[in-house]
Amino acid sequence: MDPTGNPISPLEQALHAARALVLADLASGEVAAADVVSMVEDSVVQRRWWVEQWPAGAEYVAGLVAQDVQDAILERHGRWPLCPVCGSGDPHALDVEPELGPDPHWVCHKAGVKVASVGSLGSAAGGTPSS
Ligand SMILES: [Zn+2]
Repeated sequence: MDPTGNPISPLEQALHAARALVLADLASGEVAAADVVSMVEDSVVQRRWWVEQWPAGAEYVAGLVAQDVQDAILERHGRWPLCPVCGSGDPHALDVEPELGPDPHWVCHKAGVKVASVGSLGSAAGGTPSS
């Protein structure tokens, strides 16, 4: 429900889902600091505007928010999320694929593997499932 009592629109649902997925990945990497959460909020605000212009892009929002937050963290904190697959060599970040498409995944280009869906990074990083 929005504040006027109407059902949440599909666009709002997509934005809520994107926010939750990226926050879950941030929490799995223990980087859910206050400024990082605000980066997610900033991205959601910008993508709300974007998806209102182009409603067909609703299913792309999660991947876009993930990339926005990744860029913002890189500026302030450094690479995120670090690759959990490659045990040796230089630490490197995962990338979101597709950059503009549904069902976004974190991938390691060095190893050439899909690591996890956006929102499921915690279970791929060797952590135990929370359920
Ligand atoms: Zn890697």
